This record gives sequence, C-alpha cells and structure tokens, in this order.
Amino acid sequence: MLTESMEDYLEMIYRLLETKGYVRVVDLAEALGVQPSSVTRMVRKLNERGLVCYEKYRNIALTPKGTAIGRFLVWRDRTLHDFLTLLQVPVGVKDQVEGIEHYITPPTMCLIRNLVLYFAADTARLRDLEELRREHRYPDGEQLSELRAWLFRHGDGK
Ligand code: CA
Repeated sequence: MLTESMEDYLEMIYRLLETKGYVRVVDLAEALGVQPSSVTRMVRKLNERGLVCYEKYRNIALTPKGTAIGRFLVWRDRTLHDFLTLLQVPVGVKDQVEGIEHYITPPTMCLIRNLVLYFAADTARLRDLEELRREHRYPDGEQLSELRAWLFRHGDGK
C-alpha cells in the first residue's frame, strides 16, 4: 500500500524522467514544492520498497516496478484530467484531480477511461452531453456554490 505522498513522488519522478530524462533531489524538491531533506527521506523509503534506485549524490532512477507504477499514476492523472475536461468542469480541475486520484480504484479508472473514449469517438455524443449540461437539472434550485464541501476546498468557488 502506497501513501498519497508516495504516489505523488512516484508520479513526479516518472514525469520528470519523461521530460528531462534524469531526476535529482533538487529537481524533485522544486517540482513538488518541498524541502530537499523531505525528498531524501521519501526517496529512501521508496528505495527500501524497491521502487526507486537512489544513492547519495546520484540521480534518482525508477526500478521496473517503480516505472510500472509511475506510468499508471501519470495515466490516472491524465485520464481524470481528460474526464473532468470532458464534463466541462468550470474551475479547479487540477486540484480536484489531485484529490480524486488517491481514492479511485484502478477498475473505476478503466470505466472512466472507457467513458472518455466513448465521447471522444463521436462528436455527436459530445453535443448530446453539451445539451444535457445546458438543462441544468441538478441541483434543484440549490446553489451549488454555497455547498460546504465546495467552499471548504475552493473558497468562494470563483
Ligand atoms: Ca497527480
């Protein structure tokens, strides 16, 4: 079982390897907005679990197992992003993805991926979805922006 924080680290290591080709402690600290000492601590933990290869003063690499998990984590993030974009979620897509991703199961992710592909395959389907969106059936007269959970995360919802 990986913690949310471990998932965030693995996802970012995979991303940085994709874009830069190498990852140092400072790169990871900067990308995640944390102290290098926190990175070193976490990278050691991931090393113990056989997910990354790390020796002091060397670059951080992913093991085959770490690579497989990292690939899944990046795919999950992108698919959820595509899903919320498809729904035309008006604000906070990135923040919501960062929250949802840690709770959703892989089988649910596959179902969401299917839905994204279903709509991407035919623009008429997207138009139907757009029609539904205009109807605003939910919530019945309730001001969504005043719901507590939303306020808690997003201030005034703007
Ligand atoms: Ca993420």
